[in-house]
Amino acid sequence: MTAKILAATATFGLLPESAEAARKDKKNKKDKKSKKILEEPKIEFEMPPLVDLKELDELNINAFDLEFKEDMDVREGTGAIVIHHAGLTKDMDISVPAIHDMHLGNGWAGIGYHFVIHKDGTIEQGRPLKYVGAHAYKNNLYTVGICMTGNYNMAYPPFEQTLAVEKLTAALCKKYNIKPDEYTIFGHRDLNDTSCPGEKFYPYLPQLIKNVHEVL
Ligand SMILES: [Zn+2]
Repeated sequence: MTAKILAATATFGLLPESAEAARKDKKNKKDKKSKKILEEPKIEFEMPPLVDLKELDELNINAFDLEFKEDMDVREGTGAIVIHHAGLTKDMDISVPAIHDMHLGNGWAGIGYHFVIHKDGTIEQGRPLKYVGAHAYKNNLYTVGICMTGNYNMAYPPFEQTLAVEKLTAALCKKYNIKPDEYTIFGHRDLNDTSCPGEKFYPYLPQLIKNVHEVL
C-alpha cells in the first residue's frame, strides 16, 4: 500500500510533459533507442507548427483508379488515426500503385493504407476511406491509416511531408469529430510490434498531436 501511494505521488509530482512521456513509456514498452532520441536536442527535425485547418475536401488529394481484388468491408466508425512510414530498405519515395502491387502480393485486397503522403507533401488516396484498411493488425476496423513514404529509422522526414501529415490528421479529426490525443492518434508501434513509423519520427508524435489540437 505504502509503495503504491509513493508511486502515485511520484507520478503526480512530474511535470505535465514528463507525465505524458512516462505514460507513453509504460504503454509502449519503449526500447532504449527511442528513449535516446527523445533525450536528444531537437536540431535536425521539428514538427512545423500547423497554422491553418483545412477541411478534408479542401486538401489536394490525388486519387488513382486502383483495382481491388475483392469486396472490402465498410468501416462502421472512425475513432483513431494510425501513422506509418513505408519503411523500405532505402529511405525513398514510393508511388501508390507500387504500394498497391506490394500489398496485392501480400494476398490483401490491395493497398492497405487510406492515404499516402510523399516527401514533397503530396497527398494521395490509397484504399477508399469508407473501407476497412489493412495497416494495423487487429486495429483496422475503426482506424484510418496514413503512410509517409520514406524510412524514418534512417532519416528525418522533410518539412513538407510532416506539414502535410499534420494537415491531413487535423482534417480527419475534424471530419470524424476525433479529439486528438495519445489514444486517438497512434504511431503504428503503439498498436503492433513494429518500429513503424520509425525511430526518428515517432518521438515527435506528441508534438504533432499538440499542433493538431491547437488548430482544431
Ligand atoms: Zn506501419
